[in-house]
Amino acid sequence: MKEYDFVIVGGGCAGLSLAYELDTHNKLNDKTLAIVETREEYKRDKTWSFWRVNEHNFNDCIKKSWKQFSIKTNSETKVIKCDQFPYESIDSGLFYNKINTRLKKNKNIKFFKDINDLNTSKSFIFNSLPTVNEDNDNNLWQLFHGVEIETREDCFNESTVNLMDFNCEQRDGVHFFYVLPFSKNRAMIESTWLSKKNDSLKDYESQIKIYLNDLGIKDYKINYREEGAIPLFYPINRKENNKINIGTAGGMTRLSTGYTFFKYSRTFKIYS
Ligand SMILES: Cc1cc2nc3c(=O)[nH]c(=O)nc-3n(C[C@H](O)[C@H](O)[C@H](O)COP(=O)(O)OP(=O)(O)OC[C@H]3O[C@@H](n4cnc5c(N)ncnc54)[C@H](O)[C@@H]3O)c2cc1C
Repeated sequence: MKEYDFVIVGGGCAGLSLAYELDTHNKLNDKTLAIVETREEYKRDKTWSFWRVNEHNFNDCIKKSWKQFSIKTNSETKVIKCDQFPYESIDSGLFYNKINTRLKKNKNIKFFKDINDLNTSKSFIFNSLPTVNEDNDNNLWQLFHGVEIETREDCFNESTVNLMDFNCEQRDGVHFFYVLPFSKNRAMIESTWLSKKNDSLKDYESQIKIYLNDLGIKDYKINYREEGAIPLFYPINRKENNKINIGTAGGMTRLSTGYTFFKYSRTFKIYS
């Protein structure tokens, strides 16, 4: 069985970010890295958005950047400028492609599907698989489903992200809509719940249809879908020698909001 100096378990956002930093800072010139990832193929599966409070390596993966955002309730709308810290969205497909294209050129990096194909007894392991106690009913999650739609008519104000629109049905949890307008006729519409796990909230497509109907948007097609459940609590990964938990598994998710993405690109900045 093969041995590697470093093993990254989970080649998602945190795992690939770390591999990219190790590679671009020449830390793998005389060290070997195995990335264990089960997915069959990399394609867009997430739209990562964040406040740009610092420089990052992924300007070429940005779908759109906004300098103002709004928060809506049924009685008022607040529009807030954020020129200093724009809100940005990254296309995960572009992110995966950029990093994997680079990693493939390094002969010291190999991808595996199963960790049992490796001898990890002497490796340093970076683990990005969170261990979550699914039986704890008190855990709070951010549960969401988003669709990227294209409308026939121009419907969106492309200069303003609608961060939270609470003007929608509320059940046993906090519910809001999140709208990322990529252009006047293309936007990501996400139905988001802050709630305990609850399957009865999962009629997402109907929630989105009602929301769009209330906005007067009836003529549209769906080009892309994504769904998630982000834990708003720390996972219970054990601390072990020669192992560091990274990403959500490493407690990098901001518990109040679920924002995680930008923390990685900062955490993994390696200063050579
Ligand atoms: C749809 C979605 C949208 C999100 N949007 C935002 C956002 O806008 N802003 C933000 O800050 N955060 C966002 N998040 C939260 C967070 O940034 C992401 O979840 C991020 O991908 C977490 O990175 P990670 O590396 O910890 O996990 P992941 O990116 O999920 O990586 C884990 C990897 O492990 C692989 N894997 C699974 N099981 C195994 C196994 N047994 N062996 C090996 N590999 C395995 C998976 O295929 C995956 O590639 C979003 C989350 C989701 C799900």
